[in-house]
Amino acid sequence: MDPHSPSYIDLRSDTKTKPTPEMLQAMMTAELGDDMNGEDPTVNRLEELICEMLDKEAAVFACSGTQSNQMGLRSHCLPGDELLIHELGHIAMFEGGAPAILSGVSCRTLTGDKGMLTLDTLRGKIRSNDQHLSQTRLLCVENTTNAGGGHYYPLNQLTQICDWAHENGLKTHMDGARVFNATVAAGYSIKEICAPIDTISICFSKGLGCPMGSVLVGSKEEITKARRSRKVFGGALRQAGIVAAACVYALENNIERLQEDHDNARLLAEQLASVEGLSINPSDTETNLVFFDVDPEIGNAMQLSKALHDKGVGIGAMGQTRLRACTHLDINREQIEQVPALIKDVLNTGIKNYQGLETGPYARG
Ligand SMILES: *Cc1c(COP(=O)(O)O)cnc(C)c1O
Repeated sequence: MDPHSPSYIDLRSDTKTKPTPEMLQAMMTAELGDDMNGEDPTVNRLEELICEMLDKEAAVFACSGTQSNQMGLRSHCLPGDELLIHELGHIAMFEGGAPAILSGVSCRTLTGDKGMLTLDTLRGKIRSNDQHLSQTRLLCVENTTNAGGGHYYPLNQLTQICDWAHENGLKTHMDGARVFNATVAAGYSIKEICAPIDTISICFSKGLGCPMGSVLVGSKEEITKARRSRKVFGGALRQAGIVAAACVYALENNIERLQEDHDNARLLAEQLASVEGLSINPSDTETNLVFFDVDPEIGNAMQLSKALHDKGVGIGAMGQTRLRACTHLDINREQIEQVPALIKDVLNTGIKNYQGLETGPYARG
């Protein structure tokens, strides 16, 4: 089915949201100026607002989460340096090799449950200052984890690994594409979550429902460097307030409502648990991302994804048997309630006739 059809239930990503009339109104009436020269009042307001919310010194608007992540790591690292990251981390897996291309930085990937790092995995991973060795400069954490399953870091675990990083001379960067999902689900304040972090990248184009935009937040020194790399990466814009207005609107209106997305995700997880041929533990669904597996006897994840697409349900394949459904602003409870029956229908008909690739592309924003 055409994803633009009104009956298509698009759970492929929380990037699929369209701006609401209220958000569009905020965009249309935004005061604008030349942001490359710091003269766009709406971008400036967004940057001030986010600094206040996170209790940080400075912020810079960026085009995408990939861009703000890459600006962040460019602020901390020099060519030849290495960063520590979970093997499922977006920065290492889904940004086209950007750390190597844009900054000459290599990613040392580590394992850990739910896409998260622990002190046990990190200990001993910092290379000593020796001419033979790449210099370990940065710890990257993702919160909530995306490919890791939509989990949020327990605050004590996050503080512990960041303290360890700082004690050992590393900087810390958080890929907080969905960090507001973490605050809402965990009940920690955004200030508490960001306190142990040097730079945080936040996406507005995910659960917050904006058409585009991200922000990098940190110290004055790091953000001054990031403005320079933003220019180099082609992300310094002119009247960017037209999109920053949507971001201000989202910060003021769309954070608390993320709980609805989490409730819908949990409802979906519970319903999928009773569908024969699928496996899922509903309590693993902590935020808006619902991961489940299809019985390989029935077919693979790509085949199920394609069959569901034809039936009018968008759910992405994230591995050989793994799929991801994502709830967001444009999905309501009634739509969620229709999904299990549609999946059962598809499974009863069989999915083997669909061309299912053995391997990806599995990346999902
Ligand atoms: C979506 C996402 C990003 C940014 O992706 P863009 O496509 O550049 O917006 C970064 N990190 C995570 C974990 C994400 O889910």
